[in-house]
Amino acid sequence: MTHTSIASAVLAGIVLLAHAAGADAATVYTGDTIQGKRVISQLDVNDLEPGKKHSFFFQGVQMGTGQHWYLPVVVAKGAKPGKKILLISGVHGDEVSPVDAVQRTMAALDPAQMSGTVTAVYDVSRPAKEGVTRFWPAAQSGGAMIDLNRVWPGNEDGGSAPIRHAGLVFNRLFKPNVDYALDFHTASTGGDFTAFIFAKMSKPEIRAMAELYPIEQIKNDPGYSGTLETALVEAGVPAFTIEIGGPRSYDRRMIPLFVEGSLNVLKLHGVVPGPMGRTAKDAGTFFGDAFHTVRATHGGFLELLVDLTDKVTAGQKVAVQRNSFGEVVKEYTTAVAGEVSTIQRDAMIEPGTRVMQILHDSPKPECDGDGCGEEAADYVE
Ligand SMILES: [Zn+2]
Repeated sequence: MTHTSIASAVLAGIVLLAHAAGADAATVYTGDTIQGKRVISQLDVNDLEPGKKHSFFFQGVQMGTGQHWYLPVVVAKGAKPGKKILLISGVHGDEVSPVDAVQRTMAALDPAQMSGTVTAVYDVSRPAKEGVTRFWPAAQSGGAMIDLNRVWPGNEDGGSAPIRHAGLVFNRLFKPNVDYALDFHTASTGGDFTAFIFAKMSKPEIRAMAELYPIEQIKNDPGYSGTLETALVEAGVPAFTIEIGGPRSYDRRMIPLFVEGSLNVLKLHGVVPGPMGRTAKDAGTFFGDAFHTVRATHGGFLELLVDLTDKVTAGQKVAVQRNSFGEVVKEYTTAVAGEVSTIQRDAMIEPGTRVMQILHDSPKPECDGDGCGEEAADYVE
């Protein structure tokens, strides 16, 4: 064998190995350890020792300084094989009840009693988390603010760090390890939300999971392009979006409802044993398929006349707005009957701000009021 043919043979072997690794999506350890946690750049839960919990940092995209963003990952690997469930929090940085809800769900798991695997991923939008803000501050273009829940499934070769980060996370962390996925959120800063789920209820596998939550409201929702939920569903993974009230602090009342519902989902798929907890049926959950948005037409100070989960009737006055002289500049009414789902908590608002959204049933759910396109631009959960 000439040197060239040896080199070719070695190269062919490397290519074969690389292909095999790609097909098996084996866990890749970078060799680094951070705060006692091993760093991985790819996860395959099939590689992990059964009957144990495993903690890692997943190596995300590089920063401009050349260092990486790292995401905490905890895997509860059951003693027996079974379904793979993914619990995701921190796609937005100002939403913290999801962290507590996922941590508490993981704490309730005993891998020795499990059949299947539950993988929890935290702080997905790391720089947004560090700033306790919705947006990823990209260095490009003088500091572009990127909503990470508009770029999924991302692209490892994409034109910005957050798009590449989403691609790495989606391809190397989520996809090889998921049969079903739950993406946990809250309202954005300035807003507030009920205990709520967005779910494509037309898909029986998704509906079956969403209805296992003993919560306040569920919206049958077509999904919006670029969200993690939509990217997962388009990749064939049943998934839905959870909203645990407001941002920035733990909601002690709502979090247990979502822990109970998530454990119900694990029981449904045979991952954990035990009887079902309370469900939507027990909680009297309100269902709708459309949001009616009440939107500010003036600047000024908002007095809310209703609150979350209140039932409203068509034509009901729901908020009053005053200027700095105390004069009423606008009274807002709802055009539909339903239940209040989201509400503005910032008292001083600009024109165009969403005052509240009313969940209801519409004859044309995807084209209700400003649900036709504009709603998408204003999807701030
Ligand atoms: Zn969110």
